[in-house]
Amino acid sequence: MVHPRVASTETQPHDGEGELLPTRPLRATEIERFDDEADVVIVGFGGAGASAAIEACGAGARVLVLERGSEGGGSTAQSGGILYFGGGTPIQRACGFDDSVEEMFKYVLAASGPNPDEAKVRAFCEGSLEHFAWFLEQGVEFKPSFYAKKTTEPPTDDCLLYSGNEDCWPFNLVARPAPRGHKPKTTGSAGGLIMKRLMARATALGARVMENARAQTLVVDADGRVVGVAARVLGERRVVRAHKGVILTAGGFIMNPRMVAQHAPKLLAVNIQIGNPGDDGAGILMGVGAGGGTICMGEGFVSMPFYPPSKLVNGIIVNEQGQRFVNEDAYHGRTGDFILRQSGGRAYLIVDNNSYGRPISGMQLKAAEETVAELEGALGLPAGSLTHTVDFYNRHAAAGADPLFHKKRDYLAPLSEPPFAAIDLSIDKAVVPGFTMGGLDTLPTGEVVSAAGTVVKGLYAAGRTTAGIPRSAGGYSSGLSIGCATFFGRRAGRAAAATTTERHGEG
Ligand SMILES: Cc1cc2nc3c(=O)[nH]c(=O)nc-3n(C[C@H](O)[C@H](O)[C@H](O)COP(=O)(O)OP(=O)(O)OC[C@H]3O[C@@H](n4cnc5c(N)ncnc54)[C@H](O)[C@@H]3O)c2cc1C
Repeated sequence: MVHPRVASTETQPHDGEGELLPTRPLRATEIERFDDEADVVIVGFGGAGASAAIEACGAGARVLVLERGSEGGGSTAQSGGILYFGGGTPIQRACGFDDSVEEMFKYVLAASGPNPDEAKVRAFCEGSLEHFAWFLEQGVEFKPSFYAKKTTEPPTDDCLLYSGNEDCWPFNLVARPAPRGHKPKTTGSAGGLIMKRLMARATALGARVMENARAQTLVVDADGRVVGVAARVLGERRVVRAHKGVILTAGGFIMNPRMVAQHAPKLLAVNIQIGNPGDDGAGILMGVGAGGGTICMGEGFVSMPFYPPSKLVNGIIVNEQGQRFVNEDAYHGRTGDFILRQSGGRAYLIVDNNSYGRPISGMQLKAAEETVAELEGALGLPAGSLTHTVDFYNRHAAAGADPLFHKKRDYLAPLSEPPFAAIDLSIDKAVVPGFTMGGLDTLPTGEVVSAAGTVVKGLYAAGRTTAGIPRSAGGYSSGLSIGCATFFGRRAGRAAAATTTERHGEG
């Protein structure tokens, strides 16, 4: 959706189709009457929204959820459902892994990127065991089993996996490695199961869910406090009063090409947008309209899922100079981020007969030859570059070492069995899924803050609408998105419900 600029003289902003603009909140005085009311109004019934609804209802608030789809679930329902927990969960312990809050904190902080929110990371790690127990209370089960293969998502009903860079260089120097990806007990993707449980619990606790209700802009009082939401419900405008607060949990902006180009142009390289049509940035724009600040809007996840099969990790990834630039056992989001930074976005996975396997993601074979020198020629790499790289790699791999990038011994074997092949991981040729990571700036409570750092009264946000904990593709781990969306969604629900109810001026 494209949002044209609004002339500053307009009092009632509309776009060409008569819709309200998210960046221009309505004043309460402009509203003849509210069509509905609740204590807490939540925009979006995905992972963050459902978690907020459960906690707000649990705290005794009357909750109304506006969901633009004909049913809730959002990207969370489409997802693999991997959740990031640590600090010694019952599953980690049952599988024989030693973890602590402090080790988890060190890793998540390092993985958060150059601008980490230490308070949020601390809260997330210290609250992880409680959050795991909360999922059990919602009826989500986890099998006490470890999935050891390198994968993007276990196809089985196994639970625990290394879902990021925990055991990879350089993160294994920062914190003691432990697997923290937890997939609920179901074969294949688990996002649908998670949302089934969370949505059922929210409605059982009394949350009212209005579907086909697309929030358009916020309503503010004379003090700038957020007191409601205007929405399109099956073609009709409805304005809802929120006595305690509004929580924006409407996803990110990967589906809005204009916003991607404006704020995160590196994500224009993405050819599979990870998200749902609601990821059009409306939640972020509504928050900005009411005075919220944004941060890390240029950050995004850029994946290069060249594995499974995991034996492909035995190959080496080279750029158009024929040189390695990343440890191939790194998480696929880190690999994607590094490839994006190579000249021309060019990269090839070089394998021999022993390490070749057809990538399940559909990456294409670029060339296959009997010798490394012939492959170098077929790829148009500088003469001697790839042969030098492979010679150096093989010499050390034979001794179980990778002095340049410290790939784990499990994936170190000389590339010596012909034929040799190159799988094209170039950005314009490969499968490149991605999503946005920036969004509204929030406190660990879920309160939205302005660019100046002041709280926007009555406004809360969580999930992809916010810049949560993972703010760097280079450090992202699977499970941090839903882990943080649900964790901070819960906090926003509790904080909004705890707001003292007063009659605020509506002038
Ligand atoms: C295929 C896939 C696999 C993934 N795998 C994983 C994984 O295994 N682990 C992980 O952590 N992350 C994963 N992710 C990412 C993760 O799912 C999302 O980042 C996360 O679920 C976002 O949660 P959310 O609550 O912010 O948004 P969502 O769950 O998308 O919920 C947002 C809701 O808001 C609604 N909405 C939007 N605009 C409006 C509006 N104007 N008015 C009313 N409603 C609105 C949407 O319809 C939607 O229902 C995956 C994503 C995909 C698509």
